[in-house]
Amino acid sequence: MRFLLVTGVFFIFFVSCTFSQDESKFAELRKEMVNKQIIANGIRNPQTIKAMLKVPRHLFVPKEYIHRAYEDTPLPIGYNQTISQPFIVAYMTELARPSKNKKVLEIGTGSGYQAAVLAEIVDTVYTIEIIPELAREAEDRLKRLGYKNIIVKTGDGYNGWKEHAPYDIIMVTAATDHIPQPLLDQLAENGRLIMPVGPQWSAQRLVLAVKKNGKIERTQLAMVRFVPLLRSQ
Ligand code: SAH
Repeated sequence: MRFLLVTGVFFIFFVSCTFSQDESKFAELRKEMVNKQIIANGIRNPQTIKAMLKVPRHLFVPKEYIHRAYEDTPLPIGYNQTISQPFIVAYMTELARPSKNKKVLEIGTGSGYQAAVLAEIVDTVYTIEIIPELAREAEDRLKRLGYKNIIVKTGDGYNGWKEHAPYDIIMVTAATDHIPQPLLDQLAENGRLIMPVGPQWSAQRLVLAVKKNGKIERTQLAMVRFVPLLRSQ
């Protein structure tokens, strides 16, 4: 009996040591990712950097990609979808100018990673995902990680989420050839919308739309490559 107890305690100790070793290894990789991919490429916003240092990206990718989670690349998350490249997540976050009291709408929850990065900074993130399995997985993952300020909904985000509008920030992480009008309508005064605009399955341009005195001012930014914005029937 005593032997079993000692073995049991030792086993738990061993497992938790291995786990924390893994976690500290991932934290090290995350730091390197932030230094080499984020800061070295011009991201300066301290809150964005802090969030990128904190969110455990390796827990947002499928198990078979866990050791590639901090590489400078998008990765598959199933259902023909991808988690964006870390730099793009940081770049879009910085462009959004997130701060404590802001309300965000994200279209394209995917893994939930971009939502988590934003949720580290803002008040609430509403996020819509069209593929039910991904929405469910992201919701479970975000709950497990303790994010209480992210609300996930399954559906077509083209029409936004009127109930909680207006939004200070709208971020679309899938591409289409125009900015959906319902999203512009749901943007608050001085609100910022960021999304890739352009042809499907080819290079698109990241567009920033800011609402000033009810009018939309657009700025064309970097070339990017996102999966297409799907539409429900
Ligand atoms: N932001 C995600 C990556 C997005 S990939 C992350 O951090 O992991 C784009 C996602 O948009 C995919 O999961 C795709 O299923 C979803 N999507 C595509 N069209 C959509 C639509 N009309 N409404 C909501 N989600 C959509």
